[in-house]
Amino acid sequence: CYQISPKAIVSDACASYSTLERLNHQVKPALDELVQTTDFFSHYRLNLFNKKCPFWNDENGMCGNIACAVETLDNEEDIPEVWRASELGKLEGPHAKHPGKRAQKDRQPLQGKLGEDVGESCVVEYDDECDERDYCVPEDESATSKGDYVSLLRNPERFTGYAGDGAKQVWDAIYRENCFQRSSFPHSASLGESKTPEGPAAMDFKAVMEAAGRQRVLEEQRQTSPLTPFVAKTGLEYEDECLEKRVFYKVMSGMHASISAHLCWDFLNQSTGQRQPNLACYINRLHKYPERISNLYFNYALVTRAIAKLGPYLSKYNYTFCRSDPSQDAATRAKVLAVTEKASSVPQIFDESLMFKNGEGPSLKEDFRNRFRNVSRLMDCVGCDKCRLWGKVQTAGYGAALKVLFEFDNNENPEPPVLKRTELVALFNTYARLSSSLNAIQQFRKMVEDAEAAE
Ligand code: FAD
Repeated sequence: CYQISPKAIVSDACASYSTLERLNHQVKPALDELVQTTDFFSHYRLNLFNKKCPFWNDENGMCGNIACAVETLDNEEDIPEVWRASELGKLEGPHAKHPGKRAQKDRQPLQGKLGEDVGESCVVEYDDECDERDYCVPEDESATSKGDYVSLLRNPERFTGYAGDGAKQVWDAIYRENCFQRSSFPHSASLGESKTPEGPAAMDFKAVMEAAGRQRVLEEQRQTSPLTPFVAKTGLEYEDECLEKRVFYKVMSGMHASISAHLCWDFLNQSTGQRQPNLACYINRLHKYPERISNLYFNYALVTRAIAKLGPYLSKYNYTFCRSDPSQDAATRAKVLAVTEKASSVPQIFDESLMFKNGEGPSLKEDFRNRFRNVSRLMDCVGCDKCRLWGKVQTAGYGAALKVLFEFDNNENPEPPVLKRTELVALFNTYARLSSSLNAIQQFRKMVEDAEAAE
């Protein structure tokens, strides 16, 4: 009883948290090995500082905190061989070659803004770098592009202190403003902060499941919000919304939950200067909101499926990880395949074939992709360098996962689409983030239980 339908919330009986936690227990060591010990997967190249927020003036949203700073690799000799310009120039092959510029004629005009006056039409800025099957604006890895090299290991995702209006504006835009109609983005901020009936003390698996159900019913019954017609129409389960829109919301909410899990896990105690888990942070951001935790697990299932599906392609096309050093190339490939094999150990855990099929499904695919690209552009509005780095890595990672799920291996597109190295690195690092979020949540859950028992 493994499969997670995109229709399900992950707390449904069949797709239990414990199934995913068991899987994670097997995958995590191989995944950590991959992202922590290989040059290819521990580094990233991106345009971190040179892009302006395309949607609003973000100068006031900047984080002056030292914890927000990103250490970049500015000297050629600090950059691992596999990421140097000389190596990038050699990239060829079906997964590494750039598809080239798309014809301009079918492009929509740029609408570089978000806001109340932007109606249902998407805010789409087509990009020369985009393959039409891309779900996000890819980082340009070519040797000539402007870009910064970073070691992801030396810039861990954790609490930075970035908060306030700037951060809220980005999350709000992700949930409500960007392209979807309002009714497509039920957002707990709009619904009012919620009210898990049990409160923080009763954290266990069963209670979470029950609380999730009760919370949904409560939310659906709320009649006092000015947004009542919308709430009543959609509820937290968005019954009236199509599957694709619900999946989009879950992916965003799950990403948000994963970021919250990391910042609570690697929190800075400002009185001692020590980094340590902050249980109150977890309770306030996640534990009280089972739906958010459920969305995080949903993302874990979705990315697991993408990784499992990618495995045979990586073998078949013999992806090159380091041309100049065959032993490093072979070692990296072995570590990648160790992860894809473990991820495949649970039979098709997420059934993507249900999406973009019936009703308005097929026409929504393009829309879904465009919305996702806009979210990736919104990352340039994140006013904290470290958060922007990981926001970009993770949106690129989910974009790559969606591309693998929806553009690989179907009759329309028998050829696998291009996956750039930045997409591949982002995908596996996003999986590693989700994996450590699951781990953190399990440990936080245990801490809640211990605290409860000690009362
Ligand atoms: P926020 O987390 O800002 O949430 C805003 C509102 O969204 C909440 O009031 C709630 O109504 C709703 N909400 C919250 N979680 C969910 C969810 N999972 N699903 C649906 N709705 C939800 N801070 C760091 O310390 N380290 C980081 O690495 C980091 N990375 C970030 C990356 C991005 C892209 C962004 C936009 C912000 C990042 N931040 C990071 C900031 C962090 O996410 C919070 O915005 C900040 O800590 C303030 O938190 P908050 O409690 O005000 O609520």
